[in-house]
Amino acid sequence: MTGVDELEHGRCVIIGAGPAGLTAAYELALMSVDSVVLEQDDVVGGLARTVEHHGYRFDIGGHRFFTRVPLISAWWEQMLGDDFQTCSRLSRIYYNGKFFDYPLRPLNALRGLGPIETLRIVASYAKARLLPHPKEHTFEAWVCNRFGSRLFEIFFKTYTEKVWGMKCSEIAADWDTPRRGAKLEAVYPHLPKISIDFAVMEKAPRVLVLEMDCKWVDLGSWAALEGVIDADADGNVIAAPRTVTLNARNNVLVSEDDHLIAAFGVEDLVVIHSADATLVCRKQDAQALKELVTKVTDRYEGCYR
Ligand SMILES: Cc1cc2nc3c(=O)[nH]c(=O)nc-3n(C[C@H](O)[C@H](O)[C@H](O)COP(=O)(O)OP(=O)(O)OC[C@H]3O[C@@H](n4cnc5c(N)ncnc54)[C@H](O)[C@@H]3O)c2cc1C
Repeated sequence: MTGVDELEHGRCVIIGAGPAGLTAAYELALMSVDSVVLEQDDVVGGLARTVEHHGYRFDIGGHRFFTRVPLISAWWEQMLGDDFQTCSRLSRIYYNGKFFDYPLRPLNALRGLGPIETLRIVASYAKARLLPHPKEHTFEAWVCNRFGSRLFEIFFKTYTEKVWGMKCSEIAADWDTPRRGAKLEAVYPHLPKISIDFAVMEKAPRVLVLEMDCKWVDLGSWAALEGVIDADADGNVIAAPRTVTLNARNNVLVSEDDHLIAAFGVEDLVVIHSADATLVCRKQDAQALKELVTKVTDRYEGCYR
C-alpha cells in the first residue's frame, strides 16, 4: 500500500497493517514519531479486517474483543468510546448444514454428526489412545492424541488454520493449549533477573539498530503509565476495569481484575492491585521500589514475584 517515496519520509517502518501494526503506528504518532506501515494486502485490518462482497460486509475474524490485560482494555475503551459495546456471546460452528457449539462439547458434537460419523470418531479416538503420535511437537499431534484424527480433521484443523493462517503441523504443540500457560508459569519465575542489555544485546553477534527520534522513559515505573494513558479530568491515570474516584487527583490506579479501586481524597498515589498483592505508595517513591521488593522477598520468600 505504501511506495518507496513515502518510506523516505518515515522514521519507523512497521510491517503489517493488522491491529498490532496499526496500534504501533498510532502510539508512535502520539509520541510525534513518523512511521510507515507496509501492508502486502490492499486493505488494512489483517485477520480482523472487514471485507465487502456483493454489498455485504464480512468480518474475517470475529469483532468481539477479550483481554485479561487491563492496560489493553483501557486502550481500546479510550480508542472506541461509545462504539465499544458489551454484548452476550454465542459462537457456533456451521458444518455439514448443522450448527455445533463452540467451544466444542462432546455430546453436542456427536449428536449433530450422526451415528456413522460418531463411530468413525470413536474409532479414531480409540486408535489415538492405543497408538498415539510418539512425538507431540506440533499442535496437530497434540490434538490428534487427545481427540483422535477424525475430530481434528472436522473441527480443529480448518478453524485453527483459518485463524492463524498456518498449518496445524507447523504450529507448536504448546500453542493455545493449557500447557502453554502452565509452562510459562513454571519457567518464568526461574528466569534470571537480568537486563536485556546484558542478556541479549551484549552477546548478540548480529544486531541491526534503527535510528529513531522518540520519547523514551529510561526507568520504567508505575508512574510512567502517565506517559501512555490519558488521564481523566482530575489527572488520575486509570488502567482498571472498576474504579470510583472522589476528590482524588493525579493518582495512578491499576488492577488486574474486577476488584474495585475506590480512591477518596487522595493525591499523587500509586495503587496497584493484583490477584495476590496490593501496592500503595507515593508517586515520588515509585521509582525506588527495589528496597521494598527486597523486604517482601526476605519475609515471604518465593511467594510474590
Ligand atoms: C475467524 C477468526 C476469528 C477471530 N475472532 C476473534 C475474536 O473474537 N476476538 C479477538 O480478539 N480476536 C479474534 N481473532 C483474532 C484476531 O483477528 C487477531 O488476533 C488479530 O488480527 C492479530 O493482529 P495482528 O496485527 O497481530 O496480525 P494480523 O491481523 O494477522 O495482521 C498482520 C498483517 O500483516 C500483513 N503482513 C504479513 N506479512 C507481511 C509482509 N511480509 N509484508 C507486508 N505485510 C505483511 C498481513 O497481510 C496482515 O494484514 C479472530 C481471527 C479469526 C481469523
